[in-house]
Formats: sequence, C-alpha cells, structure tokens
Amino acid sequence: MRKIKVRKKILIANEEYAAKNRAFLKDRKLPCLNVISSPGSGKTTLLAKTIETLRGKLSIGVIEGDIQTDIDAKRIRKAGAPAHQINTEGACHLSAAQISYAFHKLPIDRLDLVFIENVGNLVCPSTFDLGETDKIAVLSVPEGDDKPAKYPMIFARAAAVLINKIDILYATDFNIKKVKADISKLNKKTKIFLVSAKTGEGMKQWCDWLEKRAINKRTKSAKKTRPRQ
Ligand code: MG
Ligand code: ZN
Repeated sequence: MRKIKVRKKILIANEEYAAKNRAFLKDRKLPCLNVISSPGSGKTTLLAKTIETLRGKLSIGVIEGDIQTDIDAKRIRKAGAPAHQINTEGACHLSAAQISYAFHKLPIDRLDLVFIENVGNLVCPSTFDLGETDKIAVLSVPEGDDKPAKYPMIFARAAAVLINKIDILYATDFNIKKVKADISKLNKKTKIFLVSAKTGEGMKQWCDWLEKRAINKRTKSAKKTRPRQ
C-alpha cells in the first residue's frame, strides 16, 4: 500500500515537471524528441550520424541519459553537437525534473532541435512523460523482429520507429514485413524508417523528416516574431 502511494507521488511530481518542460519547449517552438530503445540498439551512433548529416542545416543539442559514465556525451560532442550527460546512478529511466535542469545546461536558444537519449530500456521510459514533443523508438535488427509484439507500449506511442542496423539483415531471420505490420497494428500514424547508422543507408529519409519538423516550427515562430515595418 505504502509502495503504491510513494509511486503515485513520484508520478504526480513527474507530471508537474513534464508540463513545465512542455511549456518551455512550446514557448521556444523547439522540438524535443525522446529516443527510447533497448541497450545496444545503436542510439548514440544514430544520433552522431544524424548530427553529421544535418550539419549546417539544423543546430542539434543532446541530453544523454545513462546509468553510469559520460561515454555517450563525449561521442556526441565529437560529432560536433553540445551534449549534457545525466547519470541516473541506477535508475532505469530519465525523469522530467532531470530534463528540466538539463535544458539549462545546453545553449538552448541557439538550437533547432533537442534529442533526449533515454536510458537503454524498452519498458518504463515509455511511461515516464518528460514533456517531450514526441517519442522515437529504435529497434535494431539483431534484437529480433518480435519486439513490437512483446513490448507494445513504446511502439504504440512513438511518432517514428527507426529500424537500425539493416546492413546486417542478410545474416538474420529478421522479417521486416512482419515488424512493419506489427507496428502498424499498434500505431497507424507512426513513420517507419529503415536505417543503418553505420553505412548511412536510409539516413537521408530520416534526416529529411527531422528537418521538416524542425523548420516548420522555426518558420512559424519567425513569422510570429518578425517586427512590423
Ligand atoms: Mg547510448
Ligand atoms: Zn525505470
């Protein structure tokens, strides 16, 4: 009983911070994408490749969530983007309060797009609202094609699903047709991208999609704030 009460309190506090984050992003017309997957799906490599592909087009910042170490933040900085590392010290997801603090650790007013790389975990990050604009799911080929059926929550909520590591498709029994059908059953609106962060295959389609979303927000805000002459 007590445990349930404590969990409820934590969720209410998280909702308050999430609402605050949503308002912060809305004010700035800044899209923020919460990237969720199992460990080892290639999230950091994918983000580094995305940053390189969009260099000169979009200014991207990254909030990195890991249980320990700042290895991933260093990799993002090496790819040329500002990154803030959060260590959850054992917790298996990021909280909205941590994101609220991290926004101020990035040069937020210079950014067109913020990625949150959540802690590698397909389950609870999908239920912790961070106030993000959208959730993005990453599924990699070696994990197997039964993930959407087994872990439906994140696939049902994601605005886009990236199927990563398609360069090793030939060596597996991964059935793309089945995965696509399973995802569409859960979420008709989600965009599915087949990518390989390693070879660059499919990165253009994914980056075009990102660019459209970020530019749309920016043009809207530019129109709104342009002074009358
Ligand atoms: Mg990572
Ligand atoms: Zn968790």
